[in-house]
Amino acid sequence: MITGKNYIGNRLAGGGSKTYKTFNPLLNIENGQQFIEATTEEINEAVFLATDAYLIYNQKSGSEKAQFLRAIADEILDLDDSLIQMYCSESGLPEGRAKGERGRTIGQLRAFADLLEEGSWVNATIDTAQPDRTPLPKPDLRKMLVPLGPVVVFGASNFPFAFSTAGGDTASALAAGCPVIVKSHPMHAGTGEMVASAVINAAEKTGMPNGVFSNLNSGGIEVGVQLVQHNQVKAIGFTGSIKGGRALYDLAAKRAEPIPVFAEMGSINPVIMLPKALNDRGQELAITYANSITVGSGQFCTNPGLLLGIKGESFDKFIEMLAEEIVKIEPSCMLHPNIIGAYEKNKKNAVAQNGLEVAADYQKQVSPNYARQAVVTVEGKTFQENSQLHQEVFGPFSMVVQCENAKELEAIVANLEGQLTGTIISDNNEIKEYPLIVAALQNRVGRIIFNGVPTGVEVCPAMQHGGPYPASTDSRFTAVGTQSIKRWVRPFSYQNWPDELLPRELRNANPLDIIRSVDGKQTKKAL
Ligand code: NAP
Repeated sequence: MITGKNYIGNRLAGGGSKTYKTFNPLLNIENGQQFIEATTEEINEAVFLATDAYLIYNQKSGSEKAQFLRAIADEILDLDDSLIQMYCSESGLPEGRAKGERGRTIGQLRAFADLLEEGSWVNATIDTAQPDRTPLPKPDLRKMLVPLGPVVVFGASNFPFAFSTAGGDTASALAAGCPVIVKSHPMHAGTGEMVASAVINAAEKTGMPNGVFSNLNSGGIEVGVQLVQHNQVKAIGFTGSIKGGRALYDLAAKRAEPIPVFAEMGSINPVIMLPKALNDRGQELAITYANSITVGSGQFCTNPGLLLGIKGESFDKFIEMLAEEIVKIEPSCMLHPNIIGAYEKNKKNAVAQNGLEVAADYQKQVSPNYARQAVVTVEGKTFQENSQLHQEVFGPFSMVVQCENAKELEAIVANLEGQLTGTIISDNNEIKEYPLIVAALQNRVGRIIFNGVPTGVEVCPAMQHGGPYPASTDSRFTAVGTQSIKRWVRPFSYQNWPDELLPRELRNANPLDIIRSVDGKQTKKAL
């Protein structure tokens, strides 16, 4: 079923000599299929095809692109159980998770199709001419969003569907009108090839130009580096570690023509636990948080890695209960020996820091690649003084910070690095007593949650998945939800342009019946 080759547009190619295999962490063995890394010639061919495809794809109507996205969703579903089995064999994640993530991926593609069919997302803005204005006449100006050009997408290890080959970055870039070249994640190259075949089938069936999509294998960083440096590539989408995202961001900035890198990276997602809430429902919160820390083996970008509270009886009891609850949970398999290796190393490094105490550390024997969950505690002062403690430990790990008082808690929150999410656990009125803490948290995060857990990222237009650096490289955009399309476009104005030569979105008759701003008023009316 899979070939181990690269999709260079619609063609399968494997001219290279560097090969690698994926790994089944549950069975603790390599999978059989060999994957062939893309050569420099293949990389160049994919980019040139994408550059040519851009000129044609960009001219397709919203409904034609929507058909393409819907066809991708259908083709992915048609791969059925064979795709689910491949996903599980390359990630160690359970079937239920695979199906849920596939549903999310299909849902994203269809949501972008709906957006394109409705059409108003292009922000059409028309300022009509005033030829009699004095001292100078005002020209007719019409502006809308247009695609940037070929986009390179790097997926993350922990979401083989939803943040990968046909995940959110790819779906949003294709919706925007940009051809996509995926740098396939080496840990799930087989899943990547199968999903890529679905995208290629969909492109062929819906008449999309060859090169609108390519999927390149690589077992190391070289292919990605060449792609980012290629002068025909116009933007990068990345989901992964801070180290990887920052390296690509710096590389893109050093190009003769710098290009935007939208990198969504690690986060420790602070949770502030206020005393009354802990007093009233400490046990329930301990169970909820033990689950949130360990769900998916802690391999979520929104994993609650930092719990903060004010010293006192209710917080002490909560820590005790959390420690009791978390070791009751059966450990689960991590994605890859490299990921569990990094988890063990980072956990050990964190625990070795001065002033840390281990509250819980799962001790029983576990199968290979299964992660032992842990919770550690630290005094607020120690946490403030040691920035090593602020780093993400990717896995089922959380650090509890015990603050002397609200002032210390506020100072700690204010000095945190940028985060994807921040959570406040409070009874309804208690939060009003801590306005400065709420304001400090709001300043450091992209999404603030009241009485919940940060894990679970709803896909909808109001979702913000991205935050101040280093949660993401550009906090003005989201990586999840239909508004993520805005990353791949630029505003473009036509001045005094003949009506029949304008894109349909900007013509007098408003043939697409979209909402436009005309002389400052939102309307669907024709001019
Ligand atoms: P990763 O190691 O950064 O890898 C992501 C991709 O980037 C891989 O294809 C990798 O290729 C490539 N890459 C990494 N460094 C590179 C470099 N210097 N030059 C060129 N390419 C490079 O991350 P991961 O292990 O896949 O994902 C886990 C991390 O992602 C966690 O930290 C997690 O918090 C974060 N994450 C964030 C979000 C979010 O939305 N913010 C979502 C999910 C995960 P190679 O593997 O071939 O090196």
